[in-house]
Amino acid sequence: MTVKTRFAPSPTGYLHVGGARTALYSWLFAKSQGGEFVLRIEDTDLERNSQEAVDAILEGMQWLGLEWNEGPYFQTQRFDRYNEMVDKLLAEDKAYKCYASKELLDEVRAEQEANKEMPRYDADHPKIKAVNEAAKEGDPCVIRFRNPKSGSVVFDDQIRGRIEISNSQMDDLIIRRTDGSPTYNFCVVVDDWDMGITHVIRGEDHINNTPRQINIYEALGAPVPTFAHCAMILGDDGAKLSKRHGAVSVMQYRDMGYLPVALNNYLVRLGWSHGDQEIFSQEEMINLFSLNAISKSASAFNTDKLLWLNNHYIKTSEPEYVAEHLQWHLDQKGINKNNGPVITEVIKLVGERCNTLVELADQIAYFYHDFDAFDADAAKKHLRGVAKEPLELALAKVEALSEWTTENLHQVIADVCTELEIGMGKIGMPLRVAVTGGGQSPSVDAVMQLIGKERVVARIKMALAFIAEREANAQ
Ligand code: GLU
Repeated sequence: MTVKTRFAPSPTGYLHVGGARTALYSWLFAKSQGGEFVLRIEDTDLERNSQEAVDAILEGMQWLGLEWNEGPYFQTQRFDRYNEMVDKLLAEDKAYKCYASKELLDEVRAEQEANKEMPRYDADHPKIKAVNEAAKEGDPCVIRFRNPKSGSVVFDDQIRGRIEISNSQMDDLIIRRTDGSPTYNFCVVVDDWDMGITHVIRGEDHINNTPRQINIYEALGAPVPTFAHCAMILGDDGAKLSKRHGAVSVMQYRDMGYLPVALNNYLVRLGWSHGDQEIFSQEEMINLFSLNAISKSASAFNTDKLLWLNNHYIKTSEPEYVAEHLQWHLDQKGINKNNGPVITEVIKLVGERCNTLVELADQIAYFYHDFDAFDADAAKKHLRGVAKEPLELALAKVEALSEWTTENLHQVIADVCTELEIGMGKIGMPLRVAVTGGGQSPSVDAVMQLIGKERVVARIKMALAFIAEREANAQ
């Protein structure tokens, strides 16, 4: 039997990180079993669903690289099929028409509460029975599923273990509303059956639906899939992760400069483990993933760990991969990568210093665009009178260089130190501020090599002009 999993979001907003984790687990499980992964959009709530939300989900899934083998299916396109199945259950007397009005149901509920009974729909209540017997064909009605009265539903949740719910705790679920539309729990079952889903991996907020759904599978004569319900994700204060804790939408993580590999690695570990291992390549995740290693307890979101992973992946990924994802950030900041050195070389040099792609984009701007002013603090400290002579000498040597290599540039700095009998810092820092505009950068020889001769020369001259002006003003 081919394993088939699905991710079935309701398009009410963006793709939430909790949803993304569920999608990732479903995707990984399918991959790990050589199976297939289906994307289904549960868009039956016409008031809360929107096309923008559908687009946001697809964008998030694509950005994370969670490709689906089938779909996206849309529930709104499958109403005929759901109704066909409602009719089948009606014909088999596994479902029935109920004519009780809302007022009557409220009245029965109040009565039950007054008698300290569990409030629930009771088809045998004399008032409901009377209304249903008196109704005529064509009167407005809902269709209810005839839930078994006795026995219990037992299932073996792959994460939480054996779960048993007595049928006496379930009432007859509405499967078609008065307006003819099928209801959520029914559509899910028909879909999972039609789509051949073997494993339903979803959030534990759906666990109460599962026994009801299992009864519907059985009534339809459909095979019951295996279930795995994942625990919640909490914020750092122990409350359910929400906007209040910061970013919850997957695309916000893109905006904040995370790489999808880092977010996936973070999310897989948020509730799943393989010993103490923290870093998993995609291939390792697929090979090692298993449902029973998912934790039963809730996991807390930890931004520091995510940053650490992101730094790891910026440092260790192929620079081409980093460049592909950096592009969006360069566009945001108006940095034109054609206006300077090959971007992958710059990434190799600067990447390891950055936790996010936002930082990386900020830190590489000077390779591509000239600046009109030096960072004020750095200039105040390092572009002073004492830096004039070393910078002048460095400029002369740099201009005279015939081969523009990091080694030769390194030698220029060493020679300036020897000739002027000064320490490395006396030329290194002024040079750094001159060519980068600020006080922080990787090794200045490698930086100059990438920036290129013309720009380096112009920038040292600009620094010398700055020093001259400063000295003139001081007199
Ligand atoms: N549409 C449901 C949700 O977004 C998921 C239902 C399911 O996975 O069975 O929460």
